[in-house]
Amino acid sequence: MSGYQRPAAAEGALRLHLNENTAGASPDAVAAIAALDAEDLAYYPEYDAVVAETAAYLGVDTSQLLLTNGLDEGILAAAVATARATVADGAPRPDVIVPLPAFDMYGVCARAVGARLVTVQPRRDFEFALDNVLSAITPATRLVFITSPNNPTGVRIRLSDIERVAASVPSGGLVFVDEAYHDFCGDTALPLLQSRDNVIVGRTFAKGHGLAALRAGAVIGRPETLGALRLVVPPYSLNVCAAVALRAALADRARLTWYRDEVRASRELVYAWCRGRGVPFWESGANFVLIRIGDRAREVVDGLARRGVVVRERSGDAGCEGCVRMTTGVVAHTQRGLDALEEVLCAAE
Ligand SMILES: *Cc1c(COP(=O)(O)O)cnc(C)c1O
Repeated sequence: MSGYQRPAAAEGALRLHLNENTAGASPDAVAAIAALDAEDLAYYPEYDAVVAETAAYLGVDTSQLLLTNGLDEGILAAAVATARATVADGAPRPDVIVPLPAFDMYGVCARAVGARLVTVQPRRDFEFALDNVLSAITPATRLVFITSPNNPTGVRIRLSDIERVAASVPSGGLVFVDEAYHDFCGDTALPLLQSRDNVIVGRTFAKGHGLAALRAGAVIGRPETLGALRLVVPPYSLNVCAAVALRAALADRARLTWYRDEVRASRELVYAWCRGRGVPFWESGANFVLIRIGDRAREVVDGLARRGVVVRERSGDAGCEGCVRMTTGVVAHTQRGLDALEEVLCAAE
């Protein structure tokens, strides 16, 4: 049994390993935290304003929105809600389906609540393995995690595929669409909420808005579906710093637009480098690119670390042998990462 393996500290290095915003949060978010006074810190936070403004930003009703302590908490809440329903009606252990390769927290949370983790192996091209996901669904299926764009591949999933999965899950089961990287491609399953009551969408303000350290996430769904998650999330889950910073970050639209453009340009830089070098890669809808270095992946990751650039080896993930995931944020940072990569490969040749 394994919990989440937190990567080693990377003090002083260029962090291209956790898909964080390499430009930092909006200065307005920093100012909002600095403006808090002693009483603001002493009182339990009020959420009316942050809920109203976040719902407006997302284009949903406040009754469809649950703010969480990072999207990780939303994922945990969905897993707990799933297990809770099962215990309540005396049914057998719930199945949680996770198509691989996937974000680690789905497996961590499924195991934590005693669910049976059902993994689906990836296709070679990392396109969504719709048929295999559909075959994995049984009457015991209570939760299916779908990540679009996926992490660690960056591959986007068609809305029609997500809809097919939602239509196949047995009554009482949920499809959790993790849109942590929505900001970098615009794809969303939110329109499915009109027709389906078993879809919930997860968002985070860690990646596009640069609030990873504050922990701010959101789960969106129909009010009756979200109810099961509301029973699980503690009442003051979002701390006051996160609440005021989130409001400020959402209002600073220009910064998100600028950062999104940096990410797009950064991805193109990585693609161009890979094409020039003949290194396989996957086109990404996110703020990172997965590239297949091959046998020397470990050596390359270590060589980059010695040059002050941290990237993440993903060889341990299904279908990702020899792969390295590199964050593509600010163009200058991406360029520095690629220069170091070039140096490491030349030194090895
Ligand atoms: C980063 C990430 C999260 C976690 O977001 P937090 O708000 O930092 O908890 C969730 N899902 C995926 C796919 C991610 O990459």
